[in-house]
Amino acid sequence: MTNNLNSAIVTGSSRGIGREIATALGRLGFNVVVNYASSQAAAEQAVKEVQAAGGKAVAIQADISSAADRQRLLEHAMAAFGPIHLLVNNAGIAPLQRRDLLEADEESFDRLIGTNLKGPFFLTQACAKQMLDNVPDATGRRGNIITISSISAYTASVNRADYCIAKAGLAMMTSLFAVRLAASGINVYEIRPGIIQTDMTAGVKEKYDRLIAGGLTPLARWGQPEDVARAVIAIARGLLPFSTGEVINVDGGFHLRQL
Ligand code: NDP
Repeated sequence: MTNNLNSAIVTGSSRGIGREIATALGRLGFNVVVNYASSQAAAEQAVKEVQAAGGKAVAIQADISSAADRQRLLEHAMAAFGPIHLLVNNAGIAPLQRRDLLEADEESFDRLIGTNLKGPFFLTQACAKQMLDNVPDATGRRGNIITISSISAYTASVNRADYCIAKAGLAMMTSLFAVRLAASGINVYEIRPGIIQTDMTAGVKEKYDRLIAGGLTPLARWGQPEDVARAVIAIARGLLPFSTGEVINVDGGFHLRQL
């Protein structure tokens, strides 16, 4: 049940959650831009996986914290596949060091905000402007924008304030673009993953193993990149046309309050 809105940019799709999203879009027959920062070999492997799944793919290196790179990413993506119908803001980084809030430093703050908030904001802005020129499909749709935030958007971890603040900012970013673009046939969504097994969480695996075993999440298991990709696919297939600005929790029920 694909429609004709079938070209996508997935930022940070050389590895982890992004690669799984790219491959799942390939299965739907999408043309996928596999964006990465530095892992060229991994990005080329991701391209092969998208192609094996049935889609077209191209790898484009671009650091999303850089304005020049974001512009080049969009230009090269459109040169490869024409109009872009789906932007998935997935690329993100963790702090190099977890530090108590009272010791947090500006260098880490600037790095995290640049990649995890400013980059997605201005890439979304640039992409949205292009999407406004897209020819609408039979139902008036021009595209979708999805941002992968985190449970850190509302969970206070005092040893990585920069990460939490960036993710909280993405939540407002989703609301803002959802309102601004609603009348133009572009819906905007936030997917909020919980604890997902990737390179990003490899260094804290034992800690999360313990927390999950101790009852942290009602669905007592690690999330997998595929769990997040499934939510993206529901949107990409056009199954949520009357929802925008929506938060989709993919967190094993972490967000539920219990008594
Ligand atoms: P990984 O560390 O496994 O992969 C990160 C991806 O982002 C890589 O493809 C990497 O490219 C890319 N990337 C990093 N910095 C940049 C940049 N400046 N420009 C372009 N691409 C970049 O992360 P995950 O798959 O775990 O996370 C993906 C997203 O999901 C992130 O936004 C993260 O915050 C979020 N998330 C993750 C959770 C988890 O538990 N894993 C939980 C909640 C949210 P390269 O290979 O070149 O380095």
